[in-house]
Amino acid sequence: MFTMTYEHCGQIWHEAWTSACNDRCPVCNKEIEPSDVEGDFEFTCRGCGEGTDTLQEGYCKDCWNSHWQSLSDTEKDARIKDACRYGY
Ligand SMILES: [Zn+2]
Ligand SMILES: [Zn+2]
Repeated sequence: MFTMTYEHCGQIWHEAWTSACNDRCPVCNKEIEPSDVEGDFEFTCRGCGEGTDTLQEGYCKDCWNSHWQSLSDTEKDARIKDACRYGY
């Protein structure tokens, strides 16, 4: 179970749900990303130290993207071949 905190239009509200998700602002009805999420995450990202429920090589999605950018072409190649071999 996750508890999300949202802030928009001067409002702060909380929502609890089985996964982290966006909610609609009660004032302007826009879709708002949570400003804070608390919950039982399965993993901890080794990049930013935040909890995450999807992990790639120890990184959350955001950190994985910047990690991937920092890899050399040979390293990228090796990972792409691995992914083919193991079928993911
Ligand atoms: Zn709003
Ligand atoms: Zn991260």
